[in-house]
Amino acid sequence: MEQTAQRRTAGGVEYEFVRKKVKNINLRVRADGTAAVSAPLRMPAAQVDAFVASRAEWIRTAQAKARARADAAAARPVPDRAAALAEFTRMSELVYPLFAEELGGQRPALQVRSMKSRWGVCSPAKRQITLALELYSQPPAAQIYVVVHEYCHFRVPNHSPAFWAEVERILPDWKARRRLLRP
Ligand SMILES: [Zn+2]
Repeated sequence: MEQTAQRRTAGGVEYEFVRKKVKNINLRVRADGTAAVSAPLRMPAAQVDAFVASRAEWIRTAQAKARARADAAAARPVPDRAAALAEFTRMSELVYPLFAEELGGQRPALQVRSMKSRWGVCSPAKRQITLALELYSQPPAAQIYVVVHEYCHFRVPNHSPAFWAEVERILPDWKARRRLLRP
């Protein structure tokens, strides 16, 4: 049902536009500062433009913040990969026992690589968790949240309510931990 993104401009703001099976217009500014909008399948484009134009100031502020964060991240020294892997392995060892059963008693393969747009990726089929090298510069309380998050994907592959219920069962304060993550 998803189309490829279309570029539009409204209120002086350029945005990527897709129609989806959604009930409302969804607007977000990505970490790289681009604005993305999804709208219901049958909503007229003019109505979407009007919505974006009405939020133009908010979008520009969010874009400025995103770009400032991206610049700060680019200026930060790259952490040591071996040290990051050692630390994340230690954390993974704490979480693994909770998932040992569905993993058939085999630890997931843990990888660390530089990732600009996400903190972690779980590949249940490969029994593999990849964590961002950049996560190593984040507070430990947030790092363990990311590790738990990726482990929970072995139980629920998507971000459905069932997934977040799993995360919450293990880390009731996961929201506060996630807020500590700074790009
Ligand atoms: Zn996830």
